[in-house]
Amino acid sequence: MDRALAEEIKRLTSLGLHRRCVEGDIEKVAALTLEIDRLKRERNAVVCAHVYQTPDIILGIGDLVGDSYKLADDCRRTSADVIVFCGVHFMAETAKILNPSKKVYVPSKRAGCSLSEAITAADVRKLKAEHPGLPVVTYINTSAEVKAESDCIVTSANAERILRRMYEKHDRVIFIPDRFMGANLAKALGKTPGKDIVLWHGTCVVHERFKPELVDVYRKRYPGLVALAHAECPAELIKAVDFMGGTGDMMRYVESTDASAYLLVTECGFGELAKLRFPEKNFIAMCRLCPYMKSITLESVAALLRDPASAEEVTVPPAVAAKAKVAIDRMFELAA
Ligand code: SF4
Repeated sequence: MDRALAEEIKRLTSLGLHRRCVEGDIEKVAALTLEIDRLKRERNAVVCAHVYQTPDIILGIGDLVGDSYKLADDCRRTSADVIVFCGVHFMAETAKILNPSKKVYVPSKRAGCSLSEAITAADVRKLKAEHPGLPVVTYINTSAEVKAESDCIVTSANAERILRRMYEKHDRVIFIPDRFMGANLAKALGKTPGKDIVLWHGTCVVHERFKPELVDVYRKRYPGLVALAHAECPAELIKAVDFMGGTGDMMRYVESTDASAYLLVTECGFGELAKLRFPEKNFIAMCRLCPYMKSITLESVAALLRDPASAEEVTVPPAVAAKAKVAIDRMFELAA
């Protein structure tokens, strides 16, 4: 066997990736990660990997890894010419808005998002006309056009803090597009949906379907279990768990606590990553696959980097990008 390939297999094995492979497959994975690494250097490319991606992407080729907030923040500082975004389209658009001179790609044509698709810029203009003077606080899971109509962007990592700041100056706010996250945040802040916060009807196809009854089933089976859920889950589910937050918050919670078992109520990729990062801890992943996130594979990243000229670049019209950037920068300012 080629020496470079043998060393790559050793590196991936030390990261625990062999545990996800059937016999012999680690060699195929290593051949791809080696090739991608070479192509990244040739093209001065950086790979951003969201935590819902598969571990072979996150650990095998990810240069910048994290939740939506961390990736948006980190990619502002990259010196690469090309950003390959292993995440969904709205995330890549955000990267493009923050890095207009760089070429940004998503290695899948199917990497959309049900939340992002739930609202258009025309919907936001209508909401603003119906509620004049109210600030529009927008979850990052939206298109560039929707961001451009917004006053401030938030992610699950900072939404509560930023909304709290907004309520210092306003009695009411518009929060779009996730109705579950909006209702969960309203509850955490002692606000009433409809009265203090105007919500939209978007939902995440992954998180909307988790059922609270299952949390009780696992609690009985694993005494001492701590249940963590993403803020995009419905309120009844959030009521049944011990901790609500974004994926970054959930990872930090796991790192800083010592429960007998953790129930992770979110996309499956997060559970896989947690198991690899903390092999000594016990995880039960009550998880679902995001079809959009999982449309990206090592093969699709390699194909893109072999021939970027034939791939579709992520673009945002300059006028839209300029307005959206104001709302994104407001998030960085308020989240700091
Ligand atoms: S998990 Fe939900 S919110 Fe995240 S990308 Fe998939 S559909 Fe969108």
